[in-house]
Amino acid sequence: MEIYFDNAATTALDPEVLNAMIPYLTNQYGNPSSSHALGQKAREAVEESRHTVASLLNASPSDIFFTSGATEANNIALSGAIRTYDISHAITSRLEHKAVLQTLGQYSQEGELDVSFVKIDSKGNIDFEYLENLLKFNAQSIVSLMHVNNEIGNLTDLKALSALVKYYDGIFHSDTTQSIGKYRIDLQEFDIDYLVGSSHKFHGPKGVGFIYINKYKKVRPLIYGGAQERGTRGGTENVAGIVGLAKALEISYRDLEKNHNHISYLKSFFIELLTNGPIKNIRFNGESFAEDKSSYSIVNVAFPHLKHGGSLLDKLAQLEIYVSGGSACSNLTQSGSHVLKNLKVHLDRDNVRFSFSKHNTPQDIRHVVKVLNQIYQEDEGIAKSKLLEVA
Ligand code: PMP
Repeated sequence: MEIYFDNAATTALDPEVLNAMIPYLTNQYGNPSSSHALGQKAREAVEESRHTVASLLNASPSDIFFTSGATEANNIALSGAIRTYDISHAITSRLEHKAVLQTLGQYSQEGELDVSFVKIDSKGNIDFEYLENLLKFNAQSIVSLMHVNNEIGNLTDLKALSALVKYYDGIFHSDTTQSIGKYRIDLQEFDIDYLVGSSHKFHGPKGVGFIYINKYKKVRPLIYGGAQERGTRGGTENVAGIVGLAKALEISYRDLEKNHNHISYLKSFFIELLTNGPIKNIRFNGESFAEDKSSYSIVNVAFPHLKHGGSLLDKLAQLEIYVSGGSACSNLTQSGSHVLKNLKVHLDRDNVRFSFSKHNTPQDIRHVVKVLNQIYQEDEGIAKSKLLEVA
């Protein structure tokens, strides 16, 4: 029985989304920049999608720019802001995604930017007082702090952050990749300069995302060579992808409350079964245990090491339970989770991120907990029999 609990890495494409995309992968193949009818049909589809995304976020269509995903959108926001406004100081956290850390790191290495890191506690919470001091003593900083952490699920109060950053005239960027489509974000309710989304995190296609740029902000392009996306991001638009993204976001917001309730229930059921089960010494990383301080779809569990050796992740994968040790992107570097390293806790454990979606069921949860219990019971048995052998 295959079970997919790795929805923070990516999600399954919704069949309704695929249906909306098919015409643009088949007969409606025009280039949106062509002036003939086929081109103009594609242009209409792109602009309609922009309208959909804008209205769901309560923004204006001219604030939305399509990209290849959130990595690119974060790069456009940060590089664009730094180069457009000659920013020389950035404030971020060591728990950000590499798309943010490495972009800022690159400017820092080149000597163009000083980067300050906010203090965080052992659960990953931002020290707001420390942030305020950084802002007070560094005029015109760009602040990049994420909404939902992709590994530990910590949920940051975007409105409180925005109020603080704007009080000190900072530029505010948030990597909202893990929250777009899961939380309602009304851009008229608070002031933010840049936020980003990635379609494959909310049951849309991969390789397409967007950036919201506040109408009072400009960014210098990262990609030159075409007038697409009003010169901010040259290159023929991924029309089917853009249509899929807008459809996926529309469905996410249409069903948001229902899915929120369903997925929250799965998460709390999972935590309840685990904490009341036979595996001793289970802990939770970050705030993922706390309902009001973490995303309802992510829980990061610190399991004790298996006495008999071997990795819990590998054992689960062999049993067709697909989870993750950290972010999928950092798996490629083999350097482990920078997020957990920076929390400096539970590194002597088998840390596993479980991330749920609307497709998961309570039966899936029961099955995974049963398998986990069996793995530890067998491990205990093997460890005991080894002891007897030695004796
Ligand atoms: N930021 C965060 C918080 C993410 O979780 C991810 C995806 N792992 C990204 C950025 C990058 O998104 P994309 O795959 O669209 O480039």
